[in-house]
Amino acid sequence: MGPWDGPGHEAGAVAPPVFQTSLFTKPSFREFVQQQAAEDTHYVYSRGTNPTVAFLEERLALLEGGEAAKCFGSGMGAISAVLAGLLSSGDHVLFVNDVYGPTLELAERLGAFGIEHTVLTEDTGPAAVEAHIRHNTALVYVESPGTMRMKVLDLPAITAVARRRGVRTVMDNTWATPLFQKPLALGIDLVVHSLTKYIGGHSDVVGGAVIGPESRIREVFYKGHQLFGSVMSAMEASMVLRGLRTLPVRMEEHQRNAERVIDYLAARPEVAAVHHPYAEHGPYEEIIAEQFSGFSGLLSFELREASFERVARFVDGLSLFRIGVSWGGYESLVTSPLRPGNEAELRAKGFAPGTVRLSVGLEGAERQIEDLETAFTKL
Ligand SMILES: *Cc1c(COP(=O)(O)O)cnc(C)c1O
Repeated sequence: MGPWDGPGHEAGAVAPPVFQTSLFTKPSFREFVQQQAAEDTHYVYSRGTNPTVAFLEERLALLEGGEAAKCFGSGMGAISAVLAGLLSSGDHVLFVNDVYGPTLELAERLGAFGIEHTVLTEDTGPAAVEAHIRHNTALVYVESPGTMRMKVLDLPAITAVARRRGVRTVMDNTWATPLFQKPLALGIDLVVHSLTKYIGGHSDVVGGAVIGPESRIREVFYKGHQLFGSVMSAMEASMVLRGLRTLPVRMEEHQRNAERVIDYLAARPEVAAVHHPYAEHGPYEEIIAEQFSGFSGLLSFELREASFERVARFVDGLSLFRIGVSWGGYESLVTSPLRPGNEAELRAKGFAPGTVRLSVGLEGAERQIEDLETAFTKL
């Protein structure tokens, strides 16, 4: 990432200044009128654009290989702006893979406005995708690896099908970050991110982004960002920019730790399966090698003979891995989708009831494995 080259750089500022201002005044009424008519490219009001946020947007677009980016107050802000901003009543969305839960809840909510959807989670190959595209399908929305089971999609094959049928594609690339996977180069039209995870990287900021061609980002800006108002503040943008500066070194370390943790888990008799692209030894191995240049530290595994009590005993037996939502920060985290009495619901989704999700942080694999070892002995 280059140094700051916007206003103030003459003074030698290397870090982007935080433009803590809600509006920008203009020297003449004529200029004001002209700029207000093109708020996506002029600083008028910080609900629209702000120099600190714009600097982050430029950097994200460069990293992801897109023409433009727009930042939001959260990942869900970005996803809502894309879905509500680009879809109309009567449209259909096809979700492919295990998609982030709240994204699907949003899709349910959009049903109230006449937007239909289908979720494809088992056979996610290009033929199945094609078979589920309807005359009114306006969007194919994918996540790869998918949530929880970490299943990978054949992106070039799926985007080729969508393109042939004239349907736009959106992908949630939060897991891999643009360092390790570049969906736009694989045919995806728009990429969404939760910046809350690895990109922010320190569990101290919530944010989101959409990246893609300039014309599409402009559409998302006017129809989804300006009107729904999920705004990233200048202060938050500056924190995410700080995170971006160490993203490569952090991601390499997350990957190193995760691979050692996976090797450890895979050898445990209590573990039925480990889910993470590094642990994949099946037909998807080749696709994984082609689509990823590295892996992040979020994984799941299946405890054998699972019951709520047993999973709770394991989770409570950990101390370095702390119990909580989210992921992608320094600290290792653990959670599970299991709740008392929801085993059948999980099985219907294809999830093993003993599924435990780990965010492998930066404390070092030795301490992480030692913590897991302690929890296994308490089972
Ligand atoms: C966290 C997350 C989101 C939502 O992002 P927020 O910043 O929490 O709104 C979307 N997709 C994935 C894959 C996530 O992990």
